[in-house]
Amino acid sequence: MKECTQCGKCCTKYSDGGLSATDSEIDMWQLFRPDIAEYVKNGLIWMSPQSGKPLTLCPFLRKVPEQEIYTCDIYYDRPDDCKFYPVTIKQMISDECEMLEADDLKHPDQAQRSLDKLMADSRPPFSSK
Ligand code: SF4
Ligand code: SF4
Repeated sequence: MKECTQCGKCCTKYSDGGLSATDSEIDMWQLFRPDIAEYVKNGLIWMSPQSGKPLTLCPFLRKVPEQEIYTCDIYYDRPDDCKFYPVTIKQMISDECEMLEADDLKHPDQAQRSLDKLMADSRPPFSSK
């Protein structure tokens, strides 16, 4: 299992209507990050502040100039949905996540444990099976 390469595939895929935020995250943004809260409508993210319609790409995803890598403008204030990714090996395979290595595909249970360890600061382990 490699570190994240910042390829941006996950943000690109899930920010097209596939992300959610909790009520407490939205409350925090309303209080301290109105610049994020303006992209929330009726509890949904990410929505256009102008039209109120869903955006097809997260407004906080930033491509690094002249490189094929991406950063998140709201990294420390992003929703748990983003912080928790990636959760499962199956999901990573389907998303073509670049953290996966050939060995991970051969030994998915072991790869899941490595992933949980790598993500220990961001989310609870998935393992409970
Ligand atoms: S908030 Fe950040 S981590 Fe989440 S989809 Fe947008 S750019 Fe990606
Ligand atoms: S798809 Fe995987 S490697 Fe690419 S940015 Fe997301 S977590 Fe990182």
